Amino acid sequence: MKKIQMVDLKSQYDKIKDTVNASIQEVLETNTYINGPHVHQFQKNLEEYLDVKHVIPCANGTDALQIAMMGLDLKPGDEVITADFTFAATVEVIALLQLTPVLVDVDLVNMNISIEGIKKAITPKTRAIVPVHLFGRAANMEAIMQLAKEYNLYVIEDNAQAIGAYCKFSDGSKKKAGTIGHVGATSFFPSKNLGCYGDGGAIFTNDNDLAHKLRGIVNHGMYVRYHHDVVGVNSRLDSIQAAVLNAKLPLLDEYNHARREAAKKYNAAFNGHSKIVIPDFDLNGDDHVFHQYTLRIIDADRDGLMQHLLDKGIPCAIYYPIPLHSQKAYLDARYKESDFPVTNQLVEEVLSLPMHTELDDEQIQFITESVLEFLK
Ligand SMILES: *Cc1c(COP(=O)(O)O)cnc(C)c1O
Repeated sequence: MKKIQMVDLKSQYDKIKDTVNASIQEVLETNTYINGPHVHQFQKNLEEYLDVKHVIPCANGTDALQIAMMGLDLKPGDEVITADFTFAATVEVIALLQLTPVLVDVDLVNMNISIEGIKKAITPKTRAIVPVHLFGRAANMEAIMQLAKEYNLYVIEDNAQAIGAYCKFSDGSKKKAGTIGHVGATSFFPSKNLGCYGDGGAIFTNDNDLAHKLRGIVNHGMYVRYHHDVVGVNSRLDSIQAAVLNAKLPLLDEYNHARREAAKKYNAAFNGHSKIVIPDFDLNGDDHVFHQYTLRIIDADRDGLMQHLLDKGIPCAIYYPIPLHSQKAYLDARYKESDFPVTNQLVEEVLSLPMHTELDDEQIQFITESVLEFLK
């Protein structure tokens, strides 16, 4: 059996080597390393894939979130609501911009921000909501957009983990995650569903004025060369990364499909087990692209199971072991433990198994049997 990896980028690369290498070679031959035609081409390709008017490439996903927020007219002290159960980048940029993060609990079933939690957290100072499409599962954007409309709030989607997933609406329509709020942000970190071979990120919006503003912010606040109208940053996707992404974007749907197929096989093995809660997703649906395959282990020794798997050479991980409200940098006297019952429960129960595009049946069988043998 091939060695099991949490994310197997090497096997994936081996299959696409020729196209990726040719794409990188073109950049080397044309010597346009920054803001060259490959970056522009990727921007167009991604706009078409996402069906969004504007894609603004940038240096990484954290920058994308920060720049997205810089483009909105938010002022220090404005409250920005986000999920307690996510990667720290989401809350970090809110704090960096001197906005006030307001963490709220998540939903036990989809692990995304709780709609009731948002409602309770809204105050006259609230200006924005940052939903995270966690682990590849689309958040409930219909409810979030309704609340945003009702309270006149911006919505900034953190789509670092769910590129290609669809959000569904009650009228039967669907749109790609990241393109529904006022602005969306994603990351092309190598292990993400669409990963480059270094750092990369992008911002999406359908708003022409905001897109113009963001294009200036990523480039030192310049709209006319050497005229700096706003305080900007330097955040660029380099051409070599864009070339990798141009080669990989046409495969994204296939990759997300492979992830969903692996998730179905895991789910089939664990379904109905009294100590395992499998991720909930519509088997024919496309609202979950499984950036992570995350189980809840209930009434059992989750950490013992993790060690058992590691001892057998099966990588696995706890995303995330500490709620953001308990992190030193984000402590806030306003929070009470009773505000976060679900996040506090999830950090004790979650376990993410290997999830990538190259998992084969033999590996999945070995992983599921190893889990079941410990929990029997
Ligand atoms: C990866 C990630 C980011 C940050 O992306 P980088 O490219 O690593 O800066 C932000 N939010 C979430 C939810 C992520 O998973």
